Amino acid sequence: MHAIKLKKGKAKAAYQRHPWVFSGAVADGGKRPQNGEMVQVIDDQEEFVAYGLYNGQSRVTVRLLEWDVDRCPDEGWWRMQIQQAVKAREPLLRSPDTDTVRLIFAEADFLPGLIVDRYANFLSVQVHSSGVERIKQVVTDELNQLLRPRGIYERSDASARTHEGLPAASGILSGELPPEWLEIKENGLRYQVNIIEGQKSGFYCDQRDNRLLTASYARGKRVLDCFCYSGGFSLNALAQGATSVVSVDSSALAMDALKQNIALNGFDENALKTVQADVNKQLRRFAEGGERFDLIVLDPPKYAPSRSSLEKAARAYKDLNRRGLLLLEQGGLLATFSCSAAMDMGTFKQVLAWAALDAGKEIQFVRQFTQPEDHPIRASFPEGEYLKGLLCRVL
Ligand code: SAH
Repeated sequence: MHAIKLKKGKAKAAYQRHPWVFSGAVADGGKRPQNGEMVQVIDDQEEFVAYGLYNGQSRVTVRLLEWDVDRCPDEGWWRMQIQQAVKAREPLLRSPDTDTVRLIFAEADFLPGLIVDRYANFLSVQVHSSGVERIKQVVTDELNQLLRPRGIYERSDASARTHEGLPAASGILSGELPPEWLEIKENGLRYQVNIIEGQKSGFYCDQRDNRLLTASYARGKRVLDCFCYSGGFSLNALAQGATSVVSVDSSALAMDALKQNIALNGFDENALKTVQADVNKQLRRFAEGGERFDLIVLDPPKYAPSRSSLEKAARAYKDLNRRGLLLLEQGGLLATFSCSAAMDMGTFKQVLAWAALDAGKEIQFVRQFTQPEDHPIRASFPEGEYLKGLLCRVL
């Protein structure tokens, strides 16, 4: 096995169990392994640090897997890690109201480069590293043994693969091809999910708890759900007794799914109005038309993909939230989210304070939102904390 030596003073993070070794920490010289090969990482004194998967093309040169020198990851190791991750989801998997769960969340589950979601009887797999690409067959086999799904579908077309020098990959890994529209349930509501064409891997199950919590404030309210996708927040709000819901998204596929989902759950089609539009433009139109709402949800896509884009993203979040606040009556609520890992909760609160100031409104934070238990945050990998939100009350 190749040894990858770290520069002097560059082993601290790895010793503290952070799973990423950046290219800048690797000492020059030594024979370089092939991408995807298992390596041993050693410090400048040649002491063993951890085993990991190498990729010379990636900014993250080694993804660390195991810090115990006696447990060099073999097939049995991968199977055990997968079993552990699935076992941790057992309480969720037993829920009669929800059948859509993230089973494996990459680094957070000590399986860097691997994401697995369960959608009813099907699994959707994303492979984001050349090392995991090599053991895809073992992963498929173990998932089949543990969960006996009807089919396992790969949706690895995420941009993450380009950084690893891997081409996009999608297609059936085992069993049946999922239907074009697969019915799933979450919080007792039914959704049609398109695992093959949908965004991300088909459904944003990371907002499960936040949808329920937000909807608990919706009774008797006029709700505006911005960036609604297939209607997660909208349907929960209707189920909790919202008087009316307006749902905005720019994607035609999202609108199509949402319309199906309204019918599927037996809601009156007049209770919900869909608007296919750019959210910022639509918020401006509402303001010009004098429209007002009691509860507004803002769940935009990731505005800050990296730290370097944080400043620009903060301005975009500020403008969006300012527009949202301007449409709320006194006592109105804004449930606002950011899924940018680069924007931490402290910064997000500052952005909201800034938006409120610009909107000439006084606000309180009455709730804080985070990611659900199937998207855990590993203590030694703070980068895995990406989803945050605030419920703000306009005074
Ligand atoms: N709230 C959704 C998830 C939102 S994901 C849920 O609960 O499932 C972000 C959504 O924003 C996507 O559906 C995407 O189509 C939409 N989107 C991205 N940019 C947009 C824009 N400028 N205007 C309107 N929608 C946009």
